[in-house]
Amino acid sequence: MYDRDVLENAASSRAEGEAAPVGHDLWEDIAEVLIPEDQLQKRIQELGETITEDYRGRDLVVVGILKGAALFTADLFRWIRVPASLDFMRIVSYAGTRTTGVHRVLLDLEYELDGRDVLVVEDIVDTGLTLRFLRDYLLPRNPASLRVAALLDKPSRRQVDVPIDYRGFEIPDRFVVGMGLDFNEKYRNLRAICVLRPEVYAAAGQ
Ligand code: 5GP
Repeated sequence: MYDRDVLENAASSRAEGEAAPVGHDLWEDIAEVLIPEDQLQKRIQELGETITEDYRGRDLVVVGILKGAALFTADLFRWIRVPASLDFMRIVSYAGTRTTGVHRVLLDLEYELDGRDVLVVEDIVDTGLTLRFLRDYLLPRNPASLRVAALLDKPSRRQVDVPIDYRGFEIPDRFVVGMGLDFNEKYRNLRAICVLRPEVYAAAGQ
């Protein structure tokens, strides 16, 4: 039901001004498919292969940042062909469509990082504030190295300069959902990166 053709057909029919009921079905809230599933998966495979080359013979810990990066982490991890541990952190940093700049750790790592090579996996880098918070939080634990993989990058919104070592796609300043990214806890299960119809935000009072 959520394949590319269905999403693209839904998007193009609404571009002609056709109304669809908000919240009726997942794909009906979508205005545009920004990155289709096949492109996402191809790029994730490429990133996994590069990471595999870079970390041969190292002691890698992959740290997925919940909840947004849960799906990207799972897909990427399966393309990393070197022995690696998997751990997760949960950080709250975002309300609705705005970055708050306030971060709270809801779930911390299980593993010690001392002397290990850490790869933080993020869904999207927007202002960069979350990534800066993460670096400041993790570097005192003395990892041998700390790198970042981000599926999406919105450079036009950057407030602080943060390095991204493995980047999936650069995107314009649009609020996107899908592949783990949510709007008010919905749309994470879309297989493509999508933009929602303006009525969806309006209905949520955003
Ligand atoms: P930053 O701290 O770089 O401004 O934002 C990072 C976090 O904001 C991401 O991990 C993500 O949760 C959220 N975020 C930023 N842009 C978007 C977006 O376009 N869509 C969604 N769903 N979340 C976003």
